[in-house]
Amino acid sequence: KISVEIAMPWFGMDIGGSLAKLVYFEPADFNLEDEDTELEPEALYKIHHYLRYNTAYGSTGIRDVHLEVRDVTVLGHKGSIHFIRFPTTSMSLFLDMVKEKKLSSLADTIHATGGGAYKFEQDFKEIVNMSLQKHDELACLLRGIHFMDRILPNECYYYKNTDAFNSEASEKVPYDFRDPYPYLAVNIGSGVSILAVYSQDNFKRVAGSSLGGGTFLGLCCLLTGCETFEEAIELASQGDSTKVDKSVRDIYGTDYNRFGLPGSVVASSFCCMGIKEKREAASKKDLARATLVTITNNIGSIAGMTALNEGIERIVFVGNFLRVNPISMKLLSYAMDFWSNGSRKALFLQHEGYFGAVGAFLELIG
Ligand code: ADP
Repeated sequence: KISVEIAMPWFGMDIGGSLAKLVYFEPADFNLEDEDTELEPEALYKIHHYLRYNTAYGSTGIRDVHLEVRDVTVLGHKGSIHFIRFPTTSMSLFLDMVKEKKLSSLADTIHATGGGAYKFEQDFKEIVNMSLQKHDELACLLRGIHFMDRILPNECYYYKNTDAFNSEASEKVPYDFRDPYPYLAVNIGSGVSILAVYSQDNFKRVAGSSLGGGTFLGLCCLLTGCETFEEAIELASQGDSTKVDKSVRDIYGTDYNRFGLPGSVVASSFCCMGIKEKREAASKKDLARATLVTITNNIGSIAGMTALNEGIERIVFVGNFLRVNPISMKLLSYAMDFWSNGSRKALFLQHEGYFGAVGAFLELIG
């Protein structure tokens, strides 16, 4: 039976520019038959039941069941951590749900991070009478990364045998992240933030870019008429970016040997689209692929230069841009390796876009 030091339910939230992420701890010792209504008020049971026995919430909320972490001990309670996301544009639906499930009868505060913790603070107060306890998103991100890496043996991985043009060949390999410092954390959300991390408490934001996951999705919707991230990635996976971009070989007819540039390197992204016939020959799939490759290579290039500047070799890429997106992960892996002659390494984490929310959750439990 639970002795509840901090009122349940335990949540952490990260409200970003595109997606709101919610982390929920489900105690295994949550005894639904327990008659002690003081510890298990009806509202808690309802919230628990709603989250636990659904994988979709309303029309836009989704629980990433494959990311669920079981058998974890938090403040002496064994249980599971659940990962839920919904578009930030659905915040009013989320608030309706919070109201309907009477969450405010159980807690008066939600620990939250991300820009939305500021933007929606007033709405939480007015609509559901709850306060948002705001936490810095980059500090939460790192706290989340280190917590997850500590509790999960295979959280961190890299791609072996990456090849820019044969992405099938590469495979995922676990990476021991126990002694990671210093490393670069590249968070690819709507935009991009790059942190140099020297220890869990010693880090600085060293670079960023407005050309991020939001840019990919925005441009892809414009160019192909697609409507969702999943659709954009699916189109890109079937397309050929070399019909859209101009490579070194397209310009030189061969490699540019003097500076070690292989003919396959993109010399100019989207360059072919200035030519009428090529424009007419490019399919939506090709345009989606070229958009994905352009945005990914630009991020890779900034990450590589930042790593060089900071003298750092391990580069951890996170953020939901990498969700269901092995093309970008493999491209980043190849680029980090190639442009550093093998000295820099791209690393990835299974829980991609949820570390900020995990960090906010950890702020709640202390
Ligand atoms: P933010 O905190 O800025 O919302 P995230 O790390 O959640 O950042 O990443 C947002 C990006 O993830 C989007 O710009 C898009 O590229 C990608 N993405 C992945 N899945 C989705 C989805 N279901 N809906 C919208 N964007 C998604």
